[in-house]
Amino acid sequence: MLQIVKYPHPTLRHKSKPLQRVDGEIKKIVDEMFDLMYGQNGIGLAANQVDLPYRLFIINTEADPQKGQGYVFINPLIGRRSGTVEAEEGCLSFPDVYAPVKRSEKIHLSAYNLAGEEVNYQLDGLLARAVQHEYDHLDGVLFIDRLSPTGLLSVKQALSDLELEFQAVRRRGAIPAEEQIAARLAELESLRT
Ligand SMILES: [Zn+2]
Repeated sequence: MLQIVKYPHPTLRHKSKPLQRVDGEIKKIVDEMFDLMYGQNGIGLAANQVDLPYRLFIINTEADPQKGQGYVFINPLIGRRSGTVEAEEGCLSFPDVYAPVKRSEKIHLSAYNLAGEEVNYQLDGLLARAVQHEYDHLDGVLFIDRLSPTGLLSVKQALSDLELEFQAVRRRGAIPAEEQIAARLAELESLRT
């Protein structure tokens, strides 16, 4: 059973390596990730956010399984970027935290889908923004890292609250120690990357 980890869980800072193959277990993980994402009305979710060190993320900009398109991007690469646009972002690992983030307006994305086929897209709008946000997750980069000083100040209290909550959950024994998390991620990666 997967669950979404919240800031400042260490897996959110893990830089994932490319997957070597797509198999039934990855498909099952992706299904569970879609359930979790739709359950929280999210538009994107990266594997790091469910405590897995895999280079994949999912997106549906409609946040609804009956609408829009559910994308799975495996081993993605962002190519040519152009323009800059700022808009408010949130993240399922940061409940109730929203702040404006500057992103490229248009991007080229290549990736693999669940069938193991290479796909290429020229993206703009919300889909381009969501892809850049999720792509950052795979490198251990979070949207709070890209805020202006003013933006960061505006979420400072909310971040402190999340940090306190995380420490409380960890004291209850519900989150393993740093070394245990690192060892588990390394073991999973050694099997698949
Ligand atoms: Zn996020």
